[in-house]
Amino acid sequence: MLNTSFFPTSVPPRPMGHYAHIILLRETDSYALFQTDGELNTARVQAGLADKNRTLITRITMFKRKQTTPERLSGRELLRRYGLVSPLQADTSDKKADARGVQVDANGLPICDYNVDFCKQCPDCISYGFAIGDSGSEKAKVFSDTGYSLTPYDSSHEAFTLNAPYESGTMSRQGETTSRINEQDHVRPQTLFPAVVTIRDATSALFLYVLTNILRTRRYGAQTTRTGTVTNHILGIVLADGELFSNLHFTQSLYDVLAEADQIRPGQPVVVETALQAAHTLAANLIATEPIAVSQYLDGSELTTFLDNIGQRTRTEAGMRELLQAAQRDSTTYHGQYIQKTKGKK
Ligand SMILES: [Zn+2]
Repeated sequence: MLNTSFFPTSVPPRPMGHYAHIILLRETDSYALFQTDGELNTARVQAGLADKNRTLITRITMFKRKQTTPERLSGRELLRRYGLVSPLQADTSDKKADARGVQVDANGLPICDYNVDFCKQCPDCISYGFAIGDSGSEKAKVFSDTGYSLTPYDSSHEAFTLNAPYESGTMSRQGETTSRINEQDHVRPQTLFPAVVTIRDATSALFLYVLTNILRTRRYGAQTTRTGTVTNHILGIVLADGELFSNLHFTQSLYDVLAEADQIRPGQPVVVETALQAAHTLAANLIATEPIAVSQYLDGSELTTFLDNIGQRTRTEAGMRELLQAAQRDSTTYHGQYIQKTKGKK
């Protein structure tokens, strides 16, 4: 089981070096779009680290916000679903401030409007942080970094021509061809993005909140499409006093292991089970070489038991509510101790 005594009992005001790392492989389950300005994001980087020729390849990248935003939104949806945060937007006329200075609706629920007017007290605000002009900011306790596709861009993308035919099903009418044709690059299904998500100085309840968001989030990338589903395979949880290897280092090292085993083939996806097993062994080896003190590395069957346990809780409304309420207790305590007071002094 996860050693919950590792986590601080309340969120400290200054960094205290309690790092909980979630090591995962993100796998696209359908065609995804991780893009800016209509183009897939890519980076030119070394294929692996072992290769003496330092061969460069292009990899598809999944920017930090493309990972954390959907996870935040999953959690925020649950906070509204279970009545911990108001469903109202910030610019509502019937809002008033409660004794703590938090804007609340007629039912007394805090109004937390994402990127517009954060409530500064809910589990989302405290875990992932917020910045609202001159009315305050909170540093994120959840750190993540750009993810890189394990396989090269060439094997990991596919260009689609998106047609919008006439009702007859044809692309032309009265001799004129429709101009409603669009070409779009997609990330192929079964493309893997090795990643580490780090949560610093969170209580165990806030850690569980962040972990649940990762486990439940299925849609990443462009939000308007019906594609873009992703499965997050959790390989391990590391409790330590410092930071772990980067996503790029992890990706390049995994590439080396799989290339050595002849598992990286042009135009082919990597077998997920093979990648998971290799990543599992690799992660343990990489952790052992990091200059940090690891107090627990939860993996294998113990991790499965732990995740099953969380699953049992989140599969019932009562269990889910309890998990969210525990996170809310810790976030409001932090708000009361360190955010509300500062505001009063101004
Ligand atoms: Zn909030």
